[in-house]
Amino acid sequence: MPVIDSHIHLYPPELNADPIAWAEAHGERHWAKLCTRRRKDGRPVQSFPGLDELMREMDRCGVERGILLGWYWERPETCAWQNRFFAQCVETHPDRLIAFATLHPGAGHWPTLSEMHRARDEGLVGIGELSPHAQGFGIDEPVFREVLTLATDWKMPVNLHVTDPLGASYPGRVETPLADFMRLAREFPKTKFTLAHWGGLLPLRDAEAREMANLYFDTAASPLLYEPDIWGRFIAAVPPERVLFGSDFPLNLYPEKNAMAEMETLIAEARHAGAGAAVMHDNALRLINR
Ligand SMILES: [Zn+2]
Repeated sequence: MPVIDSHIHLYPPELNADPIAWAEAHGERHWAKLCTRRRKDGRPVQSFPGLDELMREMDRCGVERGILLGWYWERPETCAWQNRFFAQCVETHPDRLIAFATLHPGAGHWPTLSEMHRARDEGLVGIGELSPHAQGFGIDEPVFREVLTLATDWKMPVNLHVTDPLGASYPGRVETPLADFMRLAREFPKTKFTLAHWGGLLPLRDAEAREMANLYFDTAASPLLYEPDIWGRFIAAVPPERVLFGSDFPLNLYPEKNAMAEMETLIAEARHAGAGAAVMHDNALRLINR
């Protein structure tokens, strides 16, 4: 059964060479706090593979295609820089990689929308992973709403970072009130939103979220957040057509087992829990209209 991993992060070589120095030089302190952190045992929370290493890992684990998600950067310039890098990745591996554009509405109306046009012209097919709460803008921010309107016109899905209000604390964690996502889904009924990290379990706690046909949920970072029984509990509550397999690679999802990030164990966990072709592959293609 082929797999599409809907939630992958990847960075340009100049960042990978020295992530801490890069973040300091580019004013991306929140990213640094989350992504260059070490666990109590001294192990880094993630690795920084290059494009070739990502492709090798996908080959090794039978991942047919991967969706590259941009980070929710604090600065518009970093968003544009990552979008250009993703355009190159997709050009290099058009049959294997799909990429979403990241944006910061703080750039203002014209710069933000022109960046969105440019990203689309370069082959990017969605928006995300954005986090209004972490990037420091409100969900009523006018430029953000223009982005959502244009994404809807272009049938681009929008991936949003979500934290579970009852989840464990960790350095750099930002609260993302679940009511905000419900409001966006209601106010933009034709926009397809993917709420990352099982949507912070929103649909298990709110019956209305289960009914909203424009809300999708990905499984990114699942083993760090929940026990494996989450797969069964979630798929029993939410139509499986709206659940997407995603890893959050190169985050190390099994720090007790592995020194480095890998995709294989999560794929095995998902299959063992009964995730079928819809969750593992088909829904991702439908979401990006392929
Ligand atoms: Zn992510």
